Amino acid sequence: MITLCKECASRFEKPFPLGECSICGGKMAKMGGLAERGALLVGGDWDSFSVSTTIPRGVLAAEEKAFDYSPGESIKTFANRYFSGKVASISGRKYEPSGGDGRIMFDFRSFTARREVEPLLFFGRYRKLKEGLSQTKWDCRKCGGRGCERCGGEGRMYRSVEEIIGEPFVKRTKGSFCMHASGREDVDVVNTAGRPFVLEITNPESRKPNLAEVAQEIAAGGEVEVSDLKKVGRGDVELVADSHFPKTYRAWIEVEGGATKEDLERISGFSEMLKQQTPNRVMHRRADKVRERHAEVVDAKMDGELVSADILADAGTYIKELISGDGGRTLPSFASLLGKGCACRKLAVVKIEDEFLDLVLG
Ligand SMILES: [Zn+2]
Ligand SMILES: [Zn+2]
Repeated sequence: MITLCKECASRFEKPFPLGECSICGGKMAKMGGLAERGALLVGGDWDSFSVSTTIPRGVLAAEEKAFDYSPGESIKTFANRYFSGKVASISGRKYEPSGGDGRIMFDFRSFTARREVEPLLFFGRYRKLKEGLSQTKWDCRKCGGRGCERCGGEGRMYRSVEEIIGEPFVKRTKGSFCMHASGREDVDVVNTAGRPFVLEITNPESRKPNLAEVAQEIAAGGEVEVSDLKKVGRGDVELVADSHFPKTYRAWIEVEGGATKEDLERISGFSEMLKQQTPNRVMHRRADKVRERHAEVVDAKMDGELVSADILADAGTYIKELISGDGGRTLPSFASLLGKGCACRKLAVVKIEDEFLDLVLG
C-alpha cells in the first residue's frame, strides 16, 4: 500500500493515506532548510537566478506508482516551483527560468545545493595602436608557456590584445577570460578602426565591473584602447565572432627601384576582383584554396619613398599578398599591375564597416 507524507499527498488530486512516505521518504518536509542553504549561494551582485533539481531515480519510480492511482504534479515541477519561490523571497533576487546570473542546483540524493555561475560577456571595439602584439594569448612553442631561453622566460612570444583587455576585467570580477573577435590582424599590423569583440569571463565572483574604469586602465598602457563596452547575451558571441565586414586598410608600399608618378597613378586606379590562393605564410593553418575578393584603392599618395594607399577590401582579403602578388598566388596584384616587385612595409586597419552590430546589439 502507498502512504505519503503531507507534502507529497498535496500534489495529487485523489487523497492518499498519510504515513511514512513511499515517494520521498520524508525528505520533502526538510525542503525549507535546503532552500535556505541554496539561497546563500546567490551571488552578492546577482540580479536574477534560475534553479534546477535532481531527483533520484528510485523516487521517480515510486512516484510513477502513485500516478497510476491519481493524476498530480510531479515532484520535480513541485520542487522547482518551491525552490525558486523560496530562494527569490530569501535573496530578494528575481527568478529567471531561462538563466539569469547563475543557477542554484538542488540535489535530492545528497540533499545538497551548489551553484553554477553564468559567464559574463562584454562587447566592445578595440584599437591596437602598436605593432608587436598578437590578438590572442600565444604561448611559446618551445616551452608551452613555462618560460625558457627562446621566449626570455616570458612563456609567450608576444603580449596579446586579449590579455591587455582581459586582465583589467578579471582584476575586478575574478574568474578567467577569453576573447572572441570578428577577424584578426597580424602581429605587425596596427588597427585604428576599432575591431568588434566579445570578452567572455567564466566563473566570475563579481558581475558588475565599472566599464569606464576598465576602459581607462586598458588605455593607460598606451598599446590598446577599447570603446563601446557593454554587457551582452550569450547569442551575441557568435554574432560578433562570425560576422565579417569590409575594411579599409592603409598600406605603405615599397616599389622596386622607387615608385614613379605613373606607378602611383596606376595604383590609384586599382579596382579589381582578385583571385587569391591561400598565402604561403598561412598555409600551415588554412586549407589551400582560391578565394575571390574585391579590392579597390580609394586614395593613394607618395609618403617619402613609399606609396601610401587606402584600400577598401572585402572581408578576408589578404592585403600583403594583394600588394606583393605572393609569387603569383594572388592575381591581379599591385606587383602584376606595375610589372615590378612591390612589398608592404607597414599596414593598418583604418575602418571597419560594422555599423550593423550597433543596430543588432541595441
Ligand atoms: Zn513525501
Ligand atoms: Zn619559452
